[in-house]
Amino acid sequence: MSQKLQAVRGAHDLLDSTVKRYRYIVETARRIAAYYGFEEIKTPVFEPTGVFSRTLGDASDIVTKEMYTFTDKGGDLLSLRPEGTAGAMRAFIEHGLQRQLPVKWFYEGPMFRYERPQKGRYRQFYQIGAELLGPEGGDADVELISLAQNLLNALGVAERTYLEINSIGDKESRDLYRIHLVDYYKQHESHLSEDSRKRLSLNPLRILDSKDKNDIEVNESAPRLLDDLNESSRTQFERIQKSLKDLGIAYSINQKLVRGLDYYSHLVFEFRTHALGAQDAVLSGGRYDGLCEMMGGSPTPAVGWAAGIERLSLLMLEDPLSTRPVALIPVGDKAERECARLAHELRGRGFVIDLSYSGNMSNRMKKAVAHRALGAVIIGEQELAKHVVTLKILDTGAQSEVKRQNLEAELAKLFNQ
Ligand code: ATP
Ligand code: MG
Repeated sequence: MSQKLQAVRGAHDLLDSTVKRYRYIVETARRIAAYYGFEEIKTPVFEPTGVFSRTLGDASDIVTKEMYTFTDKGGDLLSLRPEGTAGAMRAFIEHGLQRQLPVKWFYEGPMFRYERPQKGRYRQFYQIGAELLGPEGGDADVELISLAQNLLNALGVAERTYLEINSIGDKESRDLYRIHLVDYYKQHESHLSEDSRKRLSLNPLRILDSKDKNDIEVNESAPRLLDDLNESSRTQFERIQKSLKDLGIAYSINQKLVRGLDYYSHLVFEFRTHALGAQDAVLSGGRYDGLCEMMGGSPTPAVGWAAGIERLSLLMLEDPLSTRPVALIPVGDKAERECARLAHELRGRGFVIDLSYSGNMSNRMKKAVAHRALGAVIIGEQELAKHVVTLKILDTGAQSEVKRQNLEAELAKLFNQ
């Protein structure tokens, strides 16, 4: 017997309400990104594995545990993208866009990570993201946070999120901090989780955002990164905070918010939520001044963020409203053909028309109501003979006879109300 065919564990179909929300989130993000002058880009969902392993680093969780990597029939080592920044940067360098700075990019699409599936955590999930290449840290970072905040507002989810920021400074500050931090962790090594003991030599900063109970205890009294920031890093962080206040964007500083990847520097931020259990990250971003050079391009300051569409969708309390249709309801064979013709014509002019394929008048009327139609255009023998239609407004029940040549104008009125 053949096995039942099912979606891959952790991959999910987007149907009904889910796909409506997905589309709404992407369309809203695209619209708001355009207000800020961001252009959309599409990069491939797979890249040579090096695009990710060289940038995310062989020590990162994503590369060591979560990446879908395979050899294709030509023998090339490829990976499904786990995130969007590395591919965007690869494209930036490959197309020689250095001369066109600043580059402002918006993207959306699927990402792939081999994780333990649960609510808000999938193996194929979708992200929207924004990247701003060119400007040094400061106002550009705030502009990106402003974009994120306006997006969360527009989606109606802002009140279920809170913004946390931190600075991991420049390399000099971080190198100093790393020494202090490793010193401290060495004194408490026996209390750290096994994972974190491994991170101690590879990536000690990552221990700070560990979710392990023992690690969290050790972290309580860990040295503070902000204490090790040098003058210029501190000034940049203070400027960002002042601008956030000017914009009225509420935030708090979380000293333990880090990105463990080497190419990150200065600002790190995250819009988080209490509504999704352990999946508390909704929109995560930061400055990655070191990435371009690390990938073989000229040093290029950059800042960006990415948000999980599924998590945004889980935070939305209601489905977005879609355009209400007008239903065409034929009575009799001749009218049926006339309605098919009329539907073609009206749809060609941009009206949303609902035309059921079969059923008697009352069945079709029920369907029209179920589809939240604004109105029903009823055409029977009599209407055909008189070149009129009966137009019923479904919200009020009001019914009137409309001349065929006036139908379009009447419908336009209805749609524009
Ligand atoms: P987490 O701590 O939840 O694993 P992360 O730090 O790995 O998140 P990023 O790599 O910063 O997340 O990705 C940006 C955003 O993408 C996150 O804020 C989250 O909304 C979303 N995201 C990350 N991983 C997943 C996943 N497996 N399924 C769904 N959404 C995800
Ligand atoms: Mg993760």
